[in-house]
Parts: sequence; C-alpha cells; structure tokens
Amino acid sequence: MVEIDLNHIYKRYANAEENNYAVSDFDLHIKDKEFIVFVGPSGCGKSTTLRMIAGLEDITKGELIIDGKYENDTAPKDRNIAMVFQNYALYPHMTVFDNMAFGLKLRKYDKDKIKEKVDYAAKVLGLTEYLDRKPAALSGGQRQRVALGRAIVRDAPIFLMDEPLSNLDAKLRVSMRAEIARLHQELHTTTIYVTHDQTEAMTMADRIVVMSMGEVQQIGTPKEVYESP
Ligand code: ADP
Ligand code: ADP
Repeated sequence: MVEIDLNHIYKRYANAEENNYAVSDFDLHIKDKEFIVFVGPSGCGKSTTLRMIAGLEDITKGELIIDGKYENDTAPKDRNIAMVFQNYALYPHMTVFDNMAFGLKLRKYDKDKIKEKVDYAAKVLGLTEYLDRKPAALSGGQRQRVALGRAIVRDAPIFLMDEPLSNLDAKLRVSMRAEIARLHQELHTTTIYVTHDQTEAMTMADRIVVMSMGEVQQIGTPKEVYESP
C-alpha cells in the first residue's frame, strides 16, 4: 500500500532569481496503485517535480509524505522508488543481463537472487533471448525495455518515468504505451509518468495533472480534463 502526498511543494533552483520558482504550490494526493501522468509543455516543471519525489532535487518548500512518513530529507537510495529516464542510461560495455543486474549487484544481492529477478524482468519484457547482447545490438524499443527492466528488478512499489518514450519513433511509442500500461497492471506499482504528449496522457492515466509555468492548472481523469467544456 503506497500513498504519496505532495503538500504545497515549491522548487526554486539555487541559481534562479528570488521569485522565480520552477514549481509553485504543487499539491496532490496520489492513491495506492494509481497511474498519474504529469502533462504540459517543455519547461513547465514536470521533471523537477518528479526529481524532487525521487530525491534527486531538494524541495525548497512543502512536504513530501510517503505512507504517512516525512520523506523530504531521505537519501535517494533509501527511497523505495525506481525511476526510468528518457535517455535509457544503459552501460554500453555491459550485456543486457549485466545492465539489469547492476543495481542489485551494488546492493549485494546474491547471484541466484539476481538471476531470478533479471530472468523475471526479461520474461515480462520479452528480452529473454537478448540477455547476452550489448545495447548497441538492440533496437531503440529493446533498449528502452532494458531500462524498464532495471527499474523492475528493484521491486520498488513506486515507479517514476520521465518521458520514457520520447526517443522512440511514433509506431513504437504506441506499442510501448500499451506495454507500460500492461506492466502497471502486472506489477501493481504506484506510477507517475511525465510527458508532453497529450495522447499518452489521455490513454495511460488514471488521473492527469496538467501543468503550466510551474503551476498545476488542472487535476482530473482523462475524461474530466479533455472533455470538459
Ligand atoms: P519540464 O520537465 O516540464 O520540461 P523542468 O522541470 O525540466 O520542466 O524545468 C522547469 C523549469 O526549471 C524550467 O524553467 C527550467 O529551465 C528550470 N530548470 C530545470 N532544471 C534546472 C536546473 N538544474 N537549474 C536551474 N533551472 C532549472
Ligand atoms: P542503477 O539504478 O542505475 O542501476 P543504483 O541503483 O545503484 O544504480 O543507483 C544509485 C543511486 O542513484 C540510487 O540509489 C539513487 O540515488 C540514484 N538513482 C540511480 N538510478 C535511479 C533510479 N532509476 N531511480 C531512482 N534513483 C536512482
């Protein structure tokens, strides 16, 4: 059971002008297993908000509460969160298996456990035949699946995804959308997905948060957001 409360969150970057907030008064209660999409144009503060939840950026003002616990000061590695980035961030010299296993090795999981988790993720993602390949020998969609696999093996109840499909061509984006929706069903994660693509927001979200210039404009189901008069 994972609930995330963002209580009046603000972000001002250290080098920004005094009253220049990248994110202002972001206020949202996220329910267990919800699929939330942050949508809005480039620069509106989506990534910044996601990175504050991951602990990759400090929160200037406001509270991040996960399952009733104050998390503002928790180190990223101690947050039970997996994040998928736009640019895959795979290690080119490592095989698919080793790319997926890397975080678990760092955390000193034993070999059998690592193999079990990587094999499971590979199976879910249709990568079993590719485990011995290097990233250069994969298609864009397969690489993005490996990046998803690295998140899956962490077994985290919270998934954060920052424009995970925007480097893929249009056709692949559509099929990966369905795949991510299926993964969400299968893994029961509480997910926050960032995109500037309204179609992605509409087809994937339980609820959409529409952002503009650092502020939340609207929060609602796809129906409420896109069919409102
Ligand atoms: P989005 O994800 O919606 O494209 P961002 O969260 O990346 O938006 O950016 C929000 C605002 O914060 C933008 O004005 C951007 O220029 C600024 N910003 C983002 N990262 C930094 C940073 N590391 N330092 C200073 N300003 C930043
Ligand atoms: P990776 O996830 O790239 O295999 P680690 O799991 O060892 O590598 O991540 C090291 C630290 O860097 C994490 O504890 C966290 O602070 C940050 N970090 C790296 N990748 C992620 C991620 N996918 N999600 C959240 N934090 C991450």
